[in-house]
Amino acid sequence: MQKSFTVGNKTFVLDQKKAEQAFQEKRIINGRESMTFNLLPLKYNWAYEIYKTMKANHWEPEDVIMNRDIEQWKDEGQVSDIERWIIMMGVGYFSAAEGIVGDNILHVIREKVTAPELKLVLGRHAHEENVHADSLLYMISSLGINPHECEAMFEDIPTIVKKNEFVTRHSYALRNDVDLTITENKQKFAKNVFLFGQCMEGTQFYGMFGMILSLYRQNKFRGIGEMFRYTLRDESNHIELLRNLFMDLIEENPDVWTSEFKEDLRSTMAEAIELEKEFISDCLPVDSIGLSKTEFLDYIDYIASRRLEGVGLEPLVQNAQNPLPWLAEMMDIKKEQNFFEGRVTEYQKASSLEIESDDDL
Ligand code: FE
Ligand code: MN
Repeated sequence: MQKSFTVGNKTFVLDQKKAEQAFQEKRIINGRESMTFNLLPLKYNWAYEIYKTMKANHWEPEDVIMNRDIEQWKDEGQVSDIERWIIMMGVGYFSAAEGIVGDNILHVIREKVTAPELKLVLGRHAHEENVHADSLLYMISSLGINPHECEAMFEDIPTIVKKNEFVTRHSYALRNDVDLTITENKQKFAKNVFLFGQCMEGTQFYGMFGMILSLYRQNKFRGIGEMFRYTLRDESNHIELLRNLFMDLIEENPDVWTSEFKEDLRSTMAEAIELEKEFISDCLPVDSIGLSKTEFLDYIDYIASRRLEGVGLEPLVQNAQNPLPWLAEMMDIKKEQNFFEGRVTEYQKASSLEIESDDDL
């Protein structure tokens, strides 16, 4: 099938068959390079759908009012030392973590995938990590926290150092040219996608999300809580994006999915859980009002089980129960839409284009 266009004395012939073949060769990895910037026709519809959802969720840190948070931060009578420490640990951990995720998305994942719709949504993902990093800058400067203190936390709080090292060591190894036709290298890449999506963003972010939202529920640091709610909504999309990417990668590369590899991923999650539990213990050396350390530790087992099941892996703890049902309500991806309903609309652009996600694209 060929179509020719004649313009003046020139004729251009377009070969539909060749274009269709290029489309057939769209892949998560090792796809046809000539398709690099050609979004249509879409093969990974879910990627474009998530991209549209992400765009509609746009938010700006500076739109959040911080007056009350500033007042509480300065007044000994309004919040306790432990509550202030949780905020310090939150800004200390996330200031580094958001950047680490964004950097890995750009320099490892987006770099290695070959389908353009994946590059599109991953570019948005990296942008959102910038917004999150910027929100922490806004929190730090609003509260008047010394930025050097925040920087020092990356180096001086061992549980933060360990959480960061756990993810960066799996990222730097993949920054050079890696031959992704070799099973072992494909597994390294798949592990990176699993580690960042399910272990880090999906599990290791949730101890702090839980603690900050517990404070929010008690009307403490509502501005910070609001920013974390927006961040959490974004993270839900990131986890789902990287979960879909992982599942399609496995489907296209069944050689990756060996029983040894599955066990490797489960033990990686076990390590993530251990590090997160140590981190929570540093955030909450003693229980505080409405904040029970044991409940947060159990919550991590629960959320990690959900992440493992989400990618078809056996959970590490059988029948883990959710000790914080109110938190599940806030964090449930499907319910989140209602949870945020009030504010989301303010940021939604009325012009967002409706495109059918099916085969016609
Ligand atoms: Fe983030
Ligand atoms: Mn994220």
